[in-house]
Amino acid sequence: MENLKAKSFELRKDIWKMIYKAKTGHTGGDFSICDILVSLYYKHMNISPESTDHPNRDRFILSKGHSVEAYYSVLADRGFFPKEELETYSQYQSKYIGHPNNKINGIEMNSGSLGHGLPVAVGMALAGKMDKASYRVYTVMGDGELAEGSVWEGAMAAGHYKLDNLTAVVDRNRLQISGCTENVMSQDNQDARWGSFGWHVIHAAGNDLKALDEAFTQAKATKGKPTVIIADTIKGYGISFTENKAEWHHKVPTEAEFENGLKELEERRIAANE
Ligand SMILES: [Mg+2]
Repeated sequence: MENLKAKSFELRKDIWKMIYKAKTGHTGGDFSICDILVSLYYKHMNISPESTDHPNRDRFILSKGHSVEAYYSVLADRGFFPKEELETYSQYQSKYIGHPNNKINGIEMNSGSLGHGLPVAVGMALAGKMDKASYRVYTVMGDGELAEGSVWEGAMAAGHYKLDNLTAVVDRNRLQISGCTENVMSQDNQDARWGSFGWHVIHAAGNDLKALDEAFTQAKATKGKPTVIIADTIKGYGISFTENKAEWHHKVPTEAEFENGLKELEERRIAANE
């Protein structure tokens, strides 16, 4: 588990470099979900870079598609494509564009238009039930994204069909592009909302790999209903000056910020390994 913690800081370094080189990206949300992706891609999901069309592979949808730099970094590190290709991110004619697309090995669905991931995940999970398949379906959403009505249509259907092969994760960092979620559209009563649609609700510290491990394990063991993990995260987690700042939703570091941030990430990576 400690090695995975170091891994999550190593990936944040890759993300930080991608964003600085491309002069575009979503640092805040990327750093927020890094540990969630590490837990899924290094421990919990049944996936293989060599067989991304295997009928029994677990399915993953990054519904908050703007956090694509985190997604590309974890896929590259798990061997879905060569890591050098990350250097083409957001360059002319690169397929590594600013939101996920399924031309890239391992990506199931084009995403980025918020509110679409959960309804598609529901369809995949329902298909799995109809086929009596063993795969599980995972999606990661933003907390700002919960203001999209289609999220709740999906939630209603998942509860109705008792999709216990489906796990949704809410990246509950309490910030969105325009500020604090509680000022934009309040999201504090998640238990009652998901519970009313028949979901099992788990709260977990979203930047803590041990807590995430327990949450995903509990989700797998939950029968007869879908599970949502409300992952309490810190937007921009990993660099002191990007943490908990809405402006880092879509900000590019200056040269000095880049160097200082890289140094901090490396220090935290080393500390995680000790
Ligand atoms: Mg958020």
